[in-house]
Amino acid sequence: MPAILTRTVGSPLRQLTRSSTIGACGHPPRRTDDSAGEWEISTTESLTTIDRADASQPAIASERHAIESALRESEERFRAVWEATTEAMALSDPDGTVIAVNPAYCALYGLTPEQAVGQSFAIIFPEEARAAAVEQYHAVFADPDPPPSYESLVQHADGSERFVEARADFHVRDGQRVAMISAIRDITERKRAERMQQDFIAMASHDLLTPVTVLRARAQLLQRRQTYDEASVASILEQASRMERLITDLRELVRLEGGRLRLRREPVDLVEIVHEALTRARTQGTEHTLHLEAPRVSIVGSWDRDRLGQVLDNLIGNAIKYSPAGGEIAIRVEATDAEGLVGIEDHGIGIASDVLPRLFERFYQGQDPGVSTGLGLGLYIARMLVEAHGGRIWAESEPGLGSTFVISLPR
Ligand code: ADP
Repeated sequence: MPAILTRTVGSPLRQLTRSSTIGACGHPPRRTDDSAGEWEISTTESLTTIDRADASQPAIASERHAIESALRESEERFRAVWEATTEAMALSDPDGTVIAVNPAYCALYGLTPEQAVGQSFAIIFPEEARAAAVEQYHAVFADPDPPPSYESLVQHADGSERFVEARADFHVRDGQRVAMISAIRDITERKRAERMQQDFIAMASHDLLTPVTVLRARAQLLQRRQTYDEASVASILEQASRMERLITDLRELVRLEGGRLRLRREPVDLVEIVHEALTRARTQGTEHTLHLEAPRVSIVGSWDRDRLGQVLDNLIGNAIKYSPAGGEIAIRVEATDAEGLVGIEDHGIGIASDVLPRLFERFYQGQDPGVSTGLGLGLYIARMLVEAHGGRIWAESEPGLGSTFVISLPR
């Protein structure tokens, strides 16, 4: 709170407002001096006090006027800050009844001043949390050394939940705390980002540890037997590739989200890069039948060859991963004058309709973690790469019958 707003008239005010009363909504509380925790509440009463005390003494009439106008000016400036600040502020009495709120407070909770003032501050909490909030309020009020800030989960009038961080300060009169002023910030976004980061670290470390566990077990087996064991070596190589994939996805994520993705556009034939992706998939020894339907003519656009190859590898890899061995996967390439299209159709487990919109979100993994071996980043990265080309990616599916993923790329 800018002490400078009250410093000009600080000391006369302190003398003249001993009978200050708590103002209504819209009367911002006023700090009496620079010391933390001391607040003054209303000016109306103090001016009356000046009148009574000094009206009969013309010698100080002009000083009174000066004080009044300084007071008014200070009040106006302070009111402007109270109303314009983006920090939500509320003043409440020792019982927790709200005395004044500023517009940022009303915006944060979706309340009008009339709905907030005169009510318990606890109406901003979900019903089941109100009793505990009142208890905490009293504890903070009584604590000679309250915590500098505390976090709470509160509720907007529309029912949505928000995380807020509140700092409490007190208006003290005659050594007694008579009101609490709370400055509140919405930290919902910060909390969400923190939670996502924690979830991500937990998930990434778990997923990276799984191949390490297999690697160690296989290496120990080889060490014990002291002989070459084809199965163990194959498993070690497979797990090493899996770790490589996970780490590549993580690096790609950092690059994409750091805005460091630069497409290297050049004339690229879509049919050719689909052929290349199919060859890569076949050389990995899949038992699936990969079937291509493409025009004999080339479909050329200005695209990034490697990035599109990466998207195709991911979609074909998923079609293989999420459909039974031996199944058929059809890859269709088509074009219009304006765009090139690739569809990848499998006859695998399919995707439930409520899940379809979430597939391309960061870290989304299907319900069956046993099947997924990634971090839920593959489709997210594919979407980012396709969108960087100005294109679109989507999926259609019949649960139990299979899925089709389509990318469309403006040429
Ligand atoms: P991951 O790398 O973990 O497999 P993706 O982003 O590539 O993550 O895929 C996210 C989720 O989408 C997968 O966990 C899976 O549930 C679902 N999915 C992706 N492709 C298919 C598919 N062809 N058939 C069924 N489900 C799929």
